[in-house]
Amino acid sequence: MPLIEKPSVSVVIPVYNEEENLTELMTRCLSVLRTMDLPFELILVDDGSRDRSARIIEDSATANPGDVKGVFLNRNYGQHAAVMAGFGASKGGIVVTLDADLQNPPEEIPALVAAVLDGHDVVGTVRKNRQDSAFRKASSFMVNKGVQKATGVMMNDYGCMLRAYRRPIIDAILLCHERSTFIPVLANSFARNTTEIPVRHDERKKGESKYSFLKLLSLQYDLLTCMTTFPLRLLSLIGGAVSLAGMGFGFVLLVMRLIFGAAWAADGVFTLFAILFVFIGGQFLALGLLGEYIGRIYTDVRARPRYFVDRRVGWGDSP
Ligand code: UDP
Ligand code: MG
Repeated sequence: MPLIEKPSVSVVIPVYNEEENLTELMTRCLSVLRTMDLPFELILVDDGSRDRSARIIEDSATANPGDVKGVFLNRNYGQHAAVMAGFGASKGGIVVTLDADLQNPPEEIPALVAAVLDGHDVVGTVRKNRQDSAFRKASSFMVNKGVQKATGVMMNDYGCMLRAYRRPIIDAILLCHERSTFIPVLANSFARNTTEIPVRHDERKKGESKYSFLKLLSLQYDLLTCMTTFPLRLLSLIGGAVSLAGMGFGFVLLVMRLIFGAAWAADGVFTLFAILFVFIGGQFLALGLLGEYIGRIYTDVRARPRYFVDRRVGWGDSP
């Protein structure tokens, strides 16, 4: 795999009401990036903050021309949309994302960049001693297991946004037209060579988590639908199973009735149940069939690139 010669690094950070963290965040990021001896840009995407975040970003961009850049969204679109906006504005051969709340230490950026330079398309991270509530940890655990099953990519921690991507992956992501996405999963669907490195995880010192329970739930649905249409197929499977069980039940009733007489089957009440089950199963099957169409419509509407050419040889100078 061709390694990028002295690539530039773009760091993309979504910001939503983080005025208390921004100054420390930018100072720490800049000092790390300046020691790395690679061209870099620090892109802060203001996701419609209502506090002074936008002002702080603007001032820093003026004070550090070329190093700090701001993208300002007109209202709040959510973390993943903000990161996408940052991707669209980024130029780097390596793109690193992290959170603005200093839970992901910027000091880990060089390790991520080094892993990309080793030839990995996507570098994920595992949070050592994760500093979040037990509820958040437990739900992440289940989600991570589910994603591993569905994508077959053995990453242990999809929730952590401290990640690095090679440029082709970012270009592929930018060609996806879906509105709700979960970037780490989307990225892995284009990556061949992924790795994970352990990173430190700090407590959120200032401000509060921007995710309410409902927002978390909606994020989980984004993750699920971004990855698979299997739940739609599940409807057919359930329907088939219920229908078959109903038929089996009906058959058992018939046999028992022949042996023990009509009184045994409560004079036809059970028979009604058996018929009912068959029809309920049939309804689920029909729903599942609709689901198959919807799943295909959804895949087409997203219009994700079918493939992505990594490189071509033997083409001379013509592109
Ligand atoms: N964020 C954002 N838009 C939102 C919600 C969050 O840009 O609508 C940013 C936020 O500023 C932070 C990152 O996304 O940089 C992660 O948010 P948070 O730390 O609140 O999430 P948690 O750590 O609780 O998962
Ligand atoms: Mg956080």
